[in-house]
Amino acid sequence: MRKPIIAGNWKLNKTIAESRELSAQLAKSLKEIDDREIIIAPVYTALATVADVIKSSPIQLAAQNCYPEKDGAFTGEVSPEFLQDAGCQYIIIGHSERRQLLNETDHFINQKLFRVLETGLKPILCIGETLQERENNRMLDVLTTQIKGGLANLTAKQMATVVIAYEPVWAIGTGKTASAEQAEDVHSFIRGLLQELFDSKVATQTRILYGGSVKPNNVDELMSQKNIDGALVGGASLNAEDFVRLVQFEN
Ligand code: PEP
Repeated sequence: MRKPIIAGNWKLNKTIAESRELSAQLAKSLKEIDDREIIIAPVYTALATVADVIKSSPIQLAAQNCYPEKDGAFTGEVSPEFLQDAGCQYIIIGHSERRQLLNETDHFINQKLFRVLETGLKPILCIGETLQERENNRMLDVLTTQIKGGLANLTAKQMATVVIAYEPVWAIGTGKTASAEQAEDVHSFIRGLLQELFDSKVATQTRILYGGSVKPNNVDELMSQKNIDGALVGGASLNAEDFVRLVQFEN
C-alpha cells in the first residue's frame, strides 16, 4: 500500500558531465522498474541536464534544498518554482548537514515545506538525532520536536504527499548503520506520532524512509522491516552498480 522509495542524495558531488553519465547508466539499468519509486538528487547545476537524461525513465528528480520564497531579491537562493522549472518532482528539506552546518531551524524548514507543497512538489523532510542526543536519552524528544516543528500547521490533507526520512546523524556517512531493529523502533515511534498529530490515515499512508549508511549489504534487512518504506542514500548513490542494487532490494 505504501510504494517504497529509494532516493539518492548526491550532495556536493558530480560535475554536469559526471551527473549526465551516472543518470544515463541508472536510466538504462532501471527502465523496467515500476513497483518502487526511484529518486535522484544531483547538485543544482546538473538538475536540468539530468532531467533531460531521465525524462523517459521511471527515475524522478529531486533538489537537495530550496528557499521558501517564490522569486525576488534573494541572492544565491533557489525557490521551489525554479526547481520545478528545472524538472524536479521532489525537494529534500531539513537534511542534517544543513541543520548542522547552516543552522537551519525547524521553523525555517516548516516555511520551506509549505512553499514546496504550494508549488505542487513533494517534500522529503529529514529528521534525526545526534549520537550525544541518543546517548543522553533525548532521542525521542528531539525527533518529536523536529516533527512537530517541521510539520507545524499542516493539515492531514496536506500530509498526503509528504515523505519523512529518519536519518540518525551518527549513521550518516560514517559506515555505522542503525540496526534494522533500532531503525524499525524509531519508524514505529514516528508513525505513532503522526497518528497523534494527524489521524490514522496519515499514519498509515505516510512513507518513512531510513537514511544512514544504507549499502547493498544491509538494504534487504532494513527494507524487510514493517515500518521502513524506503531509503535515503548518500555515499552508495554515487555508484551506479550500488544504487541499482539498492533499488532492487528484496524483502
Ligand atoms: C544522507 O546524506 O542522506 C545519507 C544517508 O548519507 P550516507 O548514505 O552516505 O550515510
